[in-house]
Amino acid sequence: MLRAPQVAPLQMAAAFAVVAWVACAAASFPSPIPQTLSVDEEYRSQRTAMVEAQIRRRGITDARVLEAMRAVPRHRFVPEPLQHLAYADQPLPIGQGQTISQPFIVAYMTEALEVRPAHRVLEIGTGSGYQAAVLSRLVREVYTIEIVPELARRATATLKALGCVNVRVREGDGYAGWPEQAPFARIMVTAAPEKVPQPLIDQLANGGRMVIPVGDREQWLTVIEKTPRGVVERRTIPVAFVPFTRGR
Ligand code: SAH
Repeated sequence: MLRAPQVAPLQMAAAFAVVAWVACAAASFPSPIPQTLSVDEEYRSQRTAMVEAQIRRRGITDARVLEAMRAVPRHRFVPEPLQHLAYADQPLPIGQGQTISQPFIVAYMTEALEVRPAHRVLEIGTGSGYQAAVLSRLVREVYTIEIVPELARRATATLKALGCVNVRVREGDGYAGWPEQAPFARIMVTAAPEKVPQPLIDQLANGGRMVIPVGDREQWLTVIEKTPRGVVERRTIPVAFVPFTRGR
């Protein structure tokens, strides 16, 4: 993500929900990242405020999505010099010319994906691993593909440190999807191709749903459903993702 889309009707706040402490799936591993608990505690209160002001008040209502956004420590997914900005209302650079999306967009896409606990989800564009970590709290398994080797390595380490045991990261070109694990109930793409890659449509289960930014200069977040009547596409909001690149 490069910039925030011009969207989101404002809604008034109500009550806070309980904040979950464990980052990803139920397992919790000792973290090799040298940070004190008090730093994590401080970020936890920033995160609670972020979810309220940037996400819930802008119209995201799915309680499970809000819980996941409150639980996953976004600051662990950004480069250390930028950690103090982790809960700001913006995308951030993660190196290699790539970005971690604005929190609202992560929440919006997660809600639009309409995941259920039994789902197996494919994500293309692991980046920092943050979106995969959010999904990992909501579904059975997450398979995620990243084309930049350094980012794939770093995301793997971060997800492991946070105990996201139900996420598998693969380095490679996501255009081809992950045929060995197909079909997927849900597919999320977090880089923008000009056209939806056909292998991803093929790997979507019947009744499945994909959320993908499509376009070049003008991009639309698109929801694709595989119905008994065929593949149905619907544009939602304008967005600005990094381009979907192709390997050799
Ligand atoms: N979901 C990420 C942010 C995505 S940024 C997060 O939560 O941090 C988009 C990512 O897609 C970048 O890391 C980029 O390298 C990756 N990407 C672009 N084209 C790709 C492709 N063909 N296959 C896999 N990953 C790709």
